[in-house]
Amino acid sequence: MNAPRLIYMDHSATTPLRPEVLDAMLPYFTEYYGNASSIHSVGRRAGVALAQARRTIAELLGAKPAEILFTSGGTESDNAALRGIAPARRAATGANRIITTAVEHKAVLQTAQDLADHFGFTLTLLPVDSDGMVALRDVEAALGDGQDVALVSVMLANNEVGTIQPVAEIAALCRERGVPIHTDAVQAAGKLSLRVDELGVDALSTSAHKFYGPKGTGFLYVRSGTPFWPTMTGGSHEASRRAGTENVPGIVGMARALALVEAEREQENARLRVLRDRLIGGILETVDGAVVTGSRTARLANHASFVLRGVEAEGVLIALDLAGIAASSGSACMSGSHRPSHVLEAMGVPAADAVGGLRLSLGHSNTPEDVETVLARLPAIVAQIKGVAPVLL
Ligand code: PLP
Repeated sequence: MNAPRLIYMDHSATTPLRPEVLDAMLPYFTEYYGNASSIHSVGRRAGVALAQARRTIAELLGAKPAEILFTSGGTESDNAALRGIAPARRAATGANRIITTAVEHKAVLQTAQDLADHFGFTLTLLPVDSDGMVALRDVEAALGDGQDVALVSVMLANNEVGTIQPVAEIAALCRERGVPIHTDAVQAAGKLSLRVDELGVDALSTSAHKFYGPKGTGFLYVRSGTPFWPTMTGGSHEASRRAGTENVPGIVGMARALALVEAEREQENARLRVLRDRLIGGILETVDGAVVTGSRTARLANHASFVLRGVEAEGVLIALDLAGIAASSGSACMSGSHRPSHVLEAMGVPAADAVGGLRLSLGHSNTPEDVETVLARLPAIVAQIKGVAPVLL
């Protein structure tokens, strides 16, 4: 008997590698394995592929190739942006404050905290409303005249609740004051435009495994002229801004993956939006105690998230898994721990509800039938978990 097909609804955690991407990568493992810095032909071949990948990505962003810096993924890109820009700008201007939001991924939030704890920066955390949205008036108030601000970092879209931040408007406020702005676009890539001039940002992070590319590969865009000190030293790779032999197969795969998702972006968003809305509508109708988290309108097309009042997410996730459905509580690092999500906390969700976080993030493999299967299974699963393991907070 064949095992039932897995219904994978955890695309915000990671995505499968596309076959076309794997095909593009394979020759760089086997035939063109040279070090991209080497003089010989097999090295030069790798170097050409690296340059081509950089051009492809730059074109998709409306950037210059020299503004693209290859990294090992979203976490490194975020670290490189904060640790690279804030101290360099402080050295140039004396500005000593970092402004970010209470709902950033920990790759930004803990890095900003580390810069405050160990490197003498002060930190301003912007609050969010009950949708997880930052208010422009709060950004304006936090910036003041901007003289003491070394860097602002605001994510483009939130991983836990799918809310899209008004980054272009925030960037305009920064630009008026000459303050550099970074955006974590890890969840946005493939779903929202990454054109850096439309966004008006000076730095932008991504991670290939979120858009059907390989894990362990990402890039950071840094606008030319932005003060930047490398955090990875020890070689002249990446124009001396990130030392280390480049992951050529990964980078080739990332460029191919980004080109593919960008070409399909609008069509795929339109398809997923229908599935997402059916999922949200169906769950609100049939699951007792379900409440949507995040904005209903400024929301990633593939993202549905809830709190299920009266149950703990873990039991629901295990039962869904046994039913062949892969979902998440919100953030990968939160699963398995009982600490309430800092995102839901910042949105004012009571701790007793926050333990019932459920995120269903859609992608290529998902069909209308998958959505109907989840809608058919979830109400009974939640009712059953409520019966055996109610939240007793
Ligand atoms: N930023 C956001 C918004 C994310 O969702 C993630 C991963 O979930 C990261 C950063 C970290 O990316 P990576 O897993 O590539 O290190």
